[in-house]
Amino acid sequence: MPVAPSKPIYTGKAKDIFETDDPNILRAYFRDSATAFNAQKKGEIQDKGKVNATISTLLFQLCEKNNIKTHFVKQISDRELLVKRVKIIPLEVIVRNIAAGSLCKRLGIKEGKILKSPIVEFSYKNDELGDPLLTRAYIINALEVADDEVLDAITELTLRANEMFKDFFLNIGIKVVDFKLEYGIDSSGTLLLADELSPDNFRFWDVKTNEKLDKDRFRQDLGNVEGAYQEMLKRVKEGSHVIASGLSPRNDANIKSFSVRVQVLPKSDILDPQGQAVEKALSSLGYKTVKDLKIGKEIVFKINTGSKSEAEKKVKEMCERLLANPVIEDFKIEIGQ
Ligand code: 5GP
Repeated sequence: MPVAPSKPIYTGKAKDIFETDDPNILRAYFRDSATAFNAQKKGEIQDKGKVNATISTLLFQLCEKNNIKTHFVKQISDRELLVKRVKIIPLEVIVRNIAAGSLCKRLGIKEGKILKSPIVEFSYKNDELGDPLLTRAYIINALEVADDEVLDAITELTLRANEMFKDFFLNIGIKVVDFKLEYGIDSSGTLLLADELSPDNFRFWDVKTNEKLDKDRFRQDLGNVEGAYQEMLKRVKEGSHVIASGLSPRNDANIKSFSVRVQVLPKSDILDPQGQAVEKALSSLGYKTVKDLKIGKEIVFKINTGSKSEAEKKVKEMCERLLANPVIEDFKIEIGQ
């Protein structure tokens, strides 16, 4: 597709956005400029634009493979991506797995604390106000930038992306501490993951050494900023080759397949109208001795993990988050090999 030479329609802190001949497609140019603390600190990170354009490309492709729709179309040069035009929802969607950055500052928690469960939080994408933290009510009723349905969809996609990223990065020796996503709506009304996916908006720590391999090296003057970005590019490329080639990831030798059976039933003190109706019908057929009938569901699947206890932990988490409603349902997990 010919690229229209033009003035940017938007200049961000690290990217310029240009129109193309196709009104639905934009060109994102990744610069080397770096900012931190709401642009109070400014600098350059050599070749950051190239690193971030390529890492974003590979991670957007990973998302698409995992049914997470993104604005990515293709990479057209070492610093340029073609992306779908979207109306950006002015929210910074932040996921945290390990305490760092503003969470530690706000709550006085020690950096490195593993959070009980991933946290999704929203900030208002507004530099003048310093990207303030938002509540759902602020978003829906005060800013009116998203409704309940859109926030639910964003939260579900973000948590799914988090699990996918955690798995992908673990295979290349990286812990995903936290990251910030932005979403937009395209011309057909579809919600798409937008912006970029890079060490600028993720915190990455080396699994073995906890070395920081992201923009915190620039924010905190830790030195070897360029080296950290290059290291991340090298590892992401390595991880992507593994996915593309279908080879086993590095630590696959220890991965086993477990069969899972989850039984979900309404809690004993919860009214179960379906169960009651069947009990009544059985009674009318003469089976009057049937009591306390409950109707539930059984879910079966396979899961690949390193151990049975890891499988149990993951499945329990799935039950609590999706497969059962712990307020009204009990669940029982059986894991076999
Ligand atoms: P924190 O709120 O701890 O400063 O940031 C949490 C995560 O979101 C970090 O991975 C950080 O890089 C990312 N993040 C937060 N705000 C911004 C922002 O304005 N721009 C970018 N690129 N990333 C951000």
